[in-house]
Amino acid sequence: LRGDEENLSPKDREFERALRPLSFEDFTGQAKIVENLRVFVHAAKKRNEPLDHVLLHGPPGLGKTTLSNIIANELQAGIKITSGPVLDKPSDLAGLLTNLEEGDVLFIDEIHRLNPIVEEYLYSAMEDFRIDIMLDSGPNARSVQISLSPFTLIGATTRSGLLTSPLRARFGINSRLEYYDAKLLTDIVTRSASILQTPIDEVAAFEIARRSRGTPRIANMLLRRTRDFAEVKGDGTITLDIAKFALNALDVDENGLDEMDNRILLTIIEKFKGGPVGLGTIATACGEEAETIEEVYEPFLIQEGYMKRTARGRMATELAYKHLKIKPTGASGT
Ligand code: ADP
Repeated sequence: LRGDEENLSPKDREFERALRPLSFEDFTGQAKIVENLRVFVHAAKKRNEPLDHVLLHGPPGLGKTTLSNIIANELQAGIKITSGPVLDKPSDLAGLLTNLEEGDVLFIDEIHRLNPIVEEYLYSAMEDFRIDIMLDSGPNARSVQISLSPFTLIGATTRSGLLTSPLRARFGINSRLEYYDAKLLTDIVTRSASILQTPIDEVAAFEIARRSRGTPRIANMLLRRTRDFAEVKGDGTITLDIAKFALNALDVDENGLDEMDNRILLTIIEKFKGGPVGLGTIATACGEEAETIEEVYEPFLIQEGYMKRTARGRMATELAYKHLKIKPTGASGT
């Protein structure tokens, strides 16, 4: 179970949509960000101006798409959703931009993966609400200027480090989403269970929450699977026993690390003496893409203190050895 969207089944997606909070009120956690956004949205509405462009960054599954939809709802504006890799040519972008109505939100997911040529076009669109389009080519080529309705761009990225500085500079609001603590995730699991009309014991909700890698998307997925176990193995209520049974069956360990987390740590320790070892080497040894390790797994492992990044590569920490019940040898692993 990963935090990113790519491996969700159609049923998972449908499930996510049903659980997605629609207002700031329903959005749990990220208090500072939400508090600021509320003010900015309120001010923009009062001045009857579009909201400043917003950049949301942070690991997958923390609520970037959800917040963008909420912002549009709260602005009482329309939202158009696209993603960096989908916008292949400038005309794809132009098509979207010219269809926006005043005050609408354009949401671009994975904005760090924009084609550089498309990105250039975005600059004047963001800054002056206009785009220059080339018509024809060769001797007949001419550029026409199209003015756009003032709009708000919301960009989401898991890798803000990959954003070019001219693009980054054009966002007036820049927020970094953090992993959620177990208490907040318990509230999210409890809310989701109530929408699903699944009875759940408080201790069971906490158990799922604390083993969800700090990520609402994972918490909801684990809840969904746990509910299946409760219906098949129990009377439909998610009790602590059912939750523990289901989490073990799903290969989520006591500390909430999943199979790939553990494989990464074990690889660094067993194959590379605890590191330092390069990301690409770890990826090959684990049979996972380097990008996925860097975006999905590593941030959590680092935040929880299982792994660290050094100039010479990744290293397993003492905590990783302890977690895997392996005795550190020599100088590595500390
Ligand atoms: P991202 O865009 O950052 O990958 P999403 O916004 O798609 O993440 O969130 C994934 C799922 O997690 C959503 O379907 C939503 O139900 C749930 N979710 C995310 N953040 C919250 C939150 N703060 N409160 C409740 N549910 C949340």
